[in-house]
Amino acid sequence: MAEATPPPASRAGTKKALPEKFQNYRHVWVAMELEHGQVHSVSYELLGEGRKLADKRGVELAAVVMGDSREALHRAATNAFEFGADKVYLVCDPVLAHYRNEVATKALTDLVNRYQPEILLLGATNLGRDLAGSVATTLETGLTADCTELAIDEEGSLAATRPTFGGSLLCTIFTLNFRPQMATVRPRVLAMPEPVPGRTGTIVEHPLELAEDDIVTKVVHFVADRDSDKAQLAYADIVVAGGLGLQSAENFQLVKQLAEVLGAEYGGSRPLVQKGWITADRQIGQTGKTIRPRLYIAAGISGAIQHRVGVEGADLIVAINTDPNAPIFEFAHLGIVADAVTLLPALTEAFARRLSVNRLAG
Ligand SMILES: Cc1cc2nc3c(=O)[nH]c(=O)nc-3n(C[C@H](O)[C@H](O)[C@H](O)COP(=O)(O)OP(=O)(O)OC[C@H]3O[C@@H](n4cnc5c(N)ncnc54)[C@H](O)[C@@H]3O)c2cc1C
Repeated sequence: MAEATPPPASRAGTKKALPEKFQNYRHVWVAMELEHGQVHSVSYELLGEGRKLADKRGVELAAVVMGDSREALHRAATNAFEFGADKVYLVCDPVLAHYRNEVATKALTDLVNRYQPEILLLGATNLGRDLAGSVATTLETGLTADCTELAIDEEGSLAATRPTFGGSLLCTIFTLNFRPQMATVRPRVLAMPEPVPGRTGTIVEHPLELAEDDIVTKVVHFVADRDSDKAQLAYADIVVAGGLGLQSAENFQLVKQLAEVLGAEYGGSRPLVQKGWITADRQIGQTGKTIRPRLYIAAGISGAIQHRVGVEGADLIVAINTDPNAPIFEFAHLGIVADAVTLLPALTEAFARRLSVNRLAG
C-alpha cells in the first residue's frame, strides 16, 4: 500500500484570532528616513514595495515623515506621493532636528497608536535598525529584520522572508497575533519604483508632545562621518570586486585599477575585510552591502550563498575564476575561466584604450 503523502507545510492551525484591540489596524506604512532634510533612497524602494502590499490588501499606503524643517518635510511628502503613497503623516518639531532614538520612537509609536497601521516598514540602515527595534519593543509587536522579500499570504498576513542559519536557508516569518507587523529591508534589496510626476495625496499633521527638557539625550555637536560618502557601493552603476582568489592585498590593487578606469566602485568578499585588504563598508553580501549595478565584475570570488544574495540584483554579472565549477558560474551571466591576476590588467588596459578612443571620437 502506498504511503499517505504528508500534507504540505502550512501555518494553518498556528493562527489564533487576532486580539480584539488589533481588529481595526489597517493600511500599510513606510517610515521614511530623513537625515538633515535628505531622504534616504531606501524609503522610495520601500514605498514601491509598500504600494504592492497595500494594493494586494486593498488598503491605503501611507508614509511617515518626521523632522524639524517644514519645507524639507513637505518636499519629502511630495516625493512620497509620487512614489506611491496615498497619505503622509507629518510630524514637525524642533526636537526632531537630529535623530535621537528616544524622540523618534515616541513620535512613531504615538502615530501608530493613534492611526493603527497593520504593516510598518523601515529601511535596514543604521538609523532604521535602531528605530525599528525600539518601536517594536515599545509597541510589543514582532519585527522581522533585514528581509529579502515581502508578500501578503492567502490569509492577508505579511509574509516577511529573510536569510537564516548563516544565509544557508531562507525563512518566512509571520507576526500573527500582534500589530503592526513590522519589517526592515536593506537598501537596494528592493527595486527602485518609477515615480509618477504630479501624483498627490493627503497630508495629516500630527503634533509631537515632547519638550526638549524632558529628553535625556542631548545633541551637543554634529560631526559628519568623513568617510560616509566614499563607498557608494549600494547605488553604483558599475562595481568591480575581488575575492581570496586574488591571493594578496597587492594583487587586489588590480581590482581598484579596473574600477578607476571604468568609473566604478570597488568592493570584495568578506574574507578580504577580515584580512584587512578592504574596509568593512566595501564588503558585498549578506552581512555587507547589497548592490544592484548595471555591471558587476567579480574576480577570484567563489560565489558562496552569502555573497550571492548581495549581488544577484545586478543586471549583468561577469565572473572571472580559474575553477570552471565555481558556484559563481551558476548565476553569472558571463563566465571567464581565467587567472584574474593576469586578466584584470589586460581588461584595464583594453578598457582604458577603448574609452580614450571613444572620448577622442566624441
Ligand atoms: C554568517 C556569514 C555571513 C557571511 N557574509 C558574507 C558576506 O556578506 N559577503 C561575502 O562575500 N561572504 C560572506 N560570508 C563568507 C562566505 O561564506 C564565503 O566564505 C566567502 O564569500 C568566500 O570568499 P571568496 O569567494 O573571496 O573566497 P573563496 O571561497 O576562497 O574563493 C576564492 C575563489 O577564487 C578562485 N581563484 C583562485 N585563484 C584564482 C585566480 N588566480 N584567478 C581567479 N580565480 C581564482 C577559486 O577558484 C575560488 O572560487 C559569510 C559567511 C557567514 C558564515
